[in-house]
Amino acid sequence: MMKSPASLTIHEAAAALRAKTLSSVELTKAVFERIRAVEPQVHAYLHLTEEDALAQAAASDRRRAAEESRGPLDGVPIALKDNLCTRGVPTTCASKILERFVPPYDATVVTRLRAAGAVITGKTNLDEFAFGSSTENSAFGPSRNPWDLDRVPGGSSGGSAAAVAADEAIAALGSDTGGSIRQPAALCGLAGLKPTYGRVSRYGLIAFASSLDQIGPLAKDVEDCAILEEAIEGWDAADSTSVRLEGPSVTQASAGDIQGLRIGIAKEWLGTGLDPEVRAAVDGARVPLEKLGCTFREISLPLQDYALPIYYLVAPAEASSNLARFDGVKYGRREDGANIVEMYKKSRSAGFGPETKRRIILGTYVLSAGYYDAYYLKALKARTRLRQDYLDALKECDALLSPATPTPAFRIGEKADDPLQMYLSDIYTVSVNLVGLPALVVPCGFSAAGLPIGMQLIGRAFDDATLLRVGARYQNVTDWHRRKPPLPDSGEGGV
Ligand code: GLN
Repeated sequence: MMKSPASLTIHEAAAALRAKTLSSVELTKAVFERIRAVEPQVHAYLHLTEEDALAQAAASDRRRAAEESRGPLDGVPIALKDNLCTRGVPTTCASKILERFVPPYDATVVTRLRAAGAVITGKTNLDEFAFGSSTENSAFGPSRNPWDLDRVPGGSSGGSAAAVAADEAIAALGSDTGGSIRQPAALCGLAGLKPTYGRVSRYGLIAFASSLDQIGPLAKDVEDCAILEEAIEGWDAADSTSVRLEGPSVTQASAGDIQGLRIGIAKEWLGTGLDPEVRAAVDGARVPLEKLGCTFREISLPLQDYALPIYYLVAPAEASSNLARFDGVKYGRREDGANIVEMYKKSRSAGFGPETKRRIILGTYVLSAGYYDAYYLKALKARTRLRQDYLDALKECDALLSPATPTPAFRIGEKADDPLQMYLSDIYTVSVNLVGLPALVVPCGFSAAGLPIGMQLIGRAFDDATLLRVGARYQNVTDWHRRKPPLPDSGEGGV
């Protein structure tokens, strides 16, 4: 059967568009046909923008005909996580409290994607306010993993991951505060990049934890991650933590070989709780990487066991402060009350789901007088020590290799009633946010049940390119990323 254009990567689509064997309108129509075919099962999206997408695609085709094309993203359909503000398009954060919120402006990453000519397909599902690891905390129902519809796609960017894995978008943007790009990428068999903190502007990303949040790509391969990162990154006057980037572009810097690269594996990563199939797949990735010239060494990250507790103090603390703005007055849902306090209470009680309330209560508690020093301040001190551990490790290593998740995708409902179990699924990802470094997830195998497994590469600050280079060379000699989930209408059929 002919391969549907919806199954292409960004670089494949860009090549076909350049060669004029495919138009952006044809590509965009193929993606929406695919959405119609599989979305009832997958539920990746909260909002589709088909009409506008087709108009953008037609504009892209006109630019190309006039020889004014803008590069590899021009005319390529991209999905956006629904915590990224889009002008005139609902942005709900999968929360009832923002159900009717339509932002009057675009997030900087959206402005940049549009400037690059990308076609926006719609807004994808997430855990409410990005709190979660499964999309089950969405107020609008969970997304499903295209590899097994009874399983979660991961979270919180689970809708973005499911959309890309099911060919309902060529690629997508997500956000990552403690793993929300990387964990769903791993569970859906995708490449996902959490850029170095400061590389990508957070302006227009509805804030979860401002010292941890970064926006990044979820894509069918590493090359696409580099293309998307290049389009969205760089200094922005609207985000004071964004940084002026110097040197070669990330796509240039991620070309080339990986001969002589030193990769560290922390002994603390391979302890109990790691599924044997995940361990075997990550271990198996060493063979092709060694053939490509990398050497491996064991390192130690003594504070690794504290990463999750630190994260679950710092992240809710910042979240409780960021979510104070949702009071029924400025945005979204409002419940009337006899006085202003009652109005706040009623609006917030009705608007927030259980996990959001849990985070607000936890965060408020650890920031309150009497507990601030014991919990929040202590967590910040431990965070600084954790950062030092990573910086030390990255003095003797060019990158670190870890599992992305302790297990492959779990079943819908399996952890929904047990927050601690859910939090444990972030055990390999949260440190990277706490220490501000870049990390890339790449598919490295499948479980016996046919579920994707991912590995994580962690790099030095602002050296995202080395990770992309390792990932891209690895993908040159492996084909885990080329497999497609066995969903109907996938163009080529199953695996
Ligand atoms: N799963 C983690 C949490 O629940 C991370 C979420 C995220 O990165 N947005 O906080």
